[in-house]
Amino acid sequence: MFDRAAETMARDELEALQLHRLKQTIARAYAQVPPFRRKLGAAGVRPEDLKTLADVARFPFTVKADLRDNFPFGLFAVPRESLLRLHASSGTTGKPTVVGYTGADLDLWSDLMARSLACMGAKPGDILHNAYGYGLFTGGLGFHYGAERLGLTTVPVSGGATERQVMLMQDFGAHILGATPSYALNIAEVAAGMGVDLRALPLRYGCFGAEPWSDPMRRELEEKFAIKAMDIYGLSEIIGPGVASECHQAQHGLHLWEDHFLCEVIDPDTTTPLPLGEAGELVLTTLTKEALPMLRYRTRDITRLIEEPCVCGRTHRRMLRVTGRSDDMLIIRGVNLYPSQVEAFLVGFPGLAPHYQLVLTRDGPMDAITIEVELATGAPRDAPFAAKIAADVRRHIKAMVGVSCDVVLKAPGEVPRSQGKAVRVKDLRQANKP
Ligand SMILES: [Zn+2]
Repeated sequence: MFDRAAETMARDELEALQLHRLKQTIARAYAQVPPFRRKLGAAGVRPEDLKTLADVARFPFTVKADLRDNFPFGLFAVPRESLLRLHASSGTTGKPTVVGYTGADLDLWSDLMARSLACMGAKPGDILHNAYGYGLFTGGLGFHYGAERLGLTTVPVSGGATERQVMLMQDFGAHILGATPSYALNIAEVAAGMGVDLRALPLRYGCFGAEPWSDPMRRELEEKFAIKAMDIYGLSEIIGPGVASECHQAQHGLHLWEDHFLCEVIDPDTTTPLPLGEAGELVLTTLTKEALPMLRYRTRDITRLIEEPCVCGRTHRRMLRVTGRSDDMLIIRGVNLYPSQVEAFLVGFPGLAPHYQLVLTRDGPMDAITIEVELATGAPRDAPFAAKIAADVRRHIKAMVGVSCDVVLKAPGEVPRSQGKAVRVKDLRQANKP
């Protein structure tokens, strides 16, 4: 473990630390951030109303729109001059979401990423092939500094130029791969095309995050690279990658670093806090961040927390794999559908490759969904075979989610490949509105 004392802290000790840090965070944000002060005023609460951890439920949520409304620096609790770094995530509409870090924040982030990498199985001296995008996106630099903090030999390759990535992994003998799961799949496919056997490389672990993925996708990646595929979680509004990570011992649920983040799960519709163990929207509060403290940030990620002891000895609660972001949830003819549900079914389906896109259109007043998925290389290409596969997929999706869909089989290579975050949904419903 990177920080044994912190990672194995007893529950009561951990909660006492959380309460202490939460009081400090709220008092500081109240003093330094005018929009924060106004928000508490509107909710009728004051910092001194927080006496126990449960009292946090009386405090208002923060949502992504708060960051946009105070663009770019309005929620910062320190003068802009004391920031050492800015990151931003691209918004689909309008301005990006801007986050900032003091020196202490960058230090904390490196520590938490080092902790996460060690938790996922990395050891000092390993070589990390870091294929997360470098730049405004937090993935590349987050992994980079955490890996250096842990003592890994870090290869800052970023995304793209996939043939060169395969060559470098081979030449340097990478032990750990950091990438989005969809890009890792792209790397595997390019390697196969080059005749390179990834399974023969010294790779031991893949650290995959930044987009929702499924257990069948995990098995697919483990098979193709002969690695353990690990899940890591984070979001730039909270700190970036390194909020939670799976341990390689259990590979079941991601330890959420509770000495620095307070976690709650709420009903996304009513915003009522849910009892431990029930599935709902993850809400996070930062406990130690200086530049951008976040109070009850609604992540939109749907998960479930478990507290049972873990074989690795860590005491921090685990969050189960995020199956979808409520923003990604599609509503097709009134039925909720997450792209990851479709993925879980398509990946590993005989005759299909794990490359797919969901295309939404409107047929008169009705939503229509088409699944475009590739035939596996080497699968029969005759019409009866294709018709049978398409019918099987249609029947299973209908049985699973209750929605009828069209299935279009594509030739190998026809579905666009991920260079970072995969585009799983093409929503054309506005475009062809009558
Ligand atoms: Zn564990």
